Amino acid sequence: MEKILPGLYRIVVPLPGNPLKEINSYVFTSDDRNLIIDTGMNRPACKQVLEPGLEELGVDLEKTDFFVTHLHADHQGMVAGLMREGSRAYMGEDDAYRLKAGTTPHARRSPMGDYAAKSGFPNEELQSAMVNHPGFKYGPESVVDYLIARDGEVFTVGDYNLEVVSTPGHTLSHLCLYERDKKIFFSGDHVLGDITPNIQNWSDENDPLDLYIKSLKKVYDMDVTLCLPGHRSFIKDFKKRILELLEHHRLRANEVIDILEKETLTAYWTASKMTWDIVAKSWDDFPVMQKWFATAEAISHLIYLENKGLIQREVKDGLVFFSSDGKEKLQTV
Ligand SMILES: [Zn+2]
Repeated sequence: MEKILPGLYRIVVPLPGNPLKEINSYVFTSDDRNLIIDTGMNRPACKQVLEPGLEELGVDLEKTDFFVTHLHADHQGMVAGLMREGSRAYMGEDDAYRLKAGTTPHARRSPMGDYAAKSGFPNEELQSAMVNHPGFKYGPESVVDYLIARDGEVFTVGDYNLEVVSTPGHTLSHLCLYERDKKIFFSGDHVLGDITPNIQNWSDENDPLDLYIKSLKKVYDMDVTLCLPGHRSFIKDFKKRILELLEHHRLRANEVIDILEKETLTAYWTASKMTWDIVAKSWDDFPVMQKWFATAEAISHLIYLENKGLIQREVKDGLVFFSSDGKEKLQTV
């Protein structure tokens, strides 16, 4: 447990075996009510750290509300277990809907599973990815009736006025919180310092990478001296980090164009040829969940480039392939 400012603390919750390593849970305490931003997964290793941390801070859960930046299990898995009769929990609309509808992959025949299959994800790996998906394994113990938080809404806790900033991309209704006077920004998984947020896509209807880039530009002009992200270390130079993330995606998109210029590939095989920051000798040695997230990230780039007219799709035997004539690259995002 670490004090950031008066009435604001961070509890670093471990995520053993997960490349993210840990998640930051932020806790506001006040004489009236307390507020917790994100919690960790529903698993013993997380509970064993968060619960004693809250106790040490003297947090009365009866007077505590929860703000969840987005639906991923590492952010909301423990909310259900911590809620008391007087608690309220908030999330973005689309994320809350998806969480409730259980569109996180519980079955091979989920829309996500079908999309993965036509993207070339091999059947035996697909089964294993579904079973091992953290959304399934470490999700909440019971359904939480989330209240919907919207862009511009303000949560006041003690001396802090936290303004909701809608930042779709990492998920479709990802939310951040901005304390304008204190110039602090709670970025969830929208802006991370030591790692790049995973932008996933499993559908043709949405273009999350386009949304993500727009959401990065949306927050760029905000006056922020301290950015408090969902994972790893605090970010001091907010604007510099945003520019790095924008450039990262431009380079990644061009890497995809280069790959598709050489051969026509499914998303799964495109992902296998992209460079990944992971300790594994080859694509074959990637743990299946890392193949899953890599393929989802490849799809977000493929859809983005297809919508920009920079790559072409063709469907053969139920599989979706992409190709590029390589003539045009992405100059700016
Ligand atoms: Zn996330």
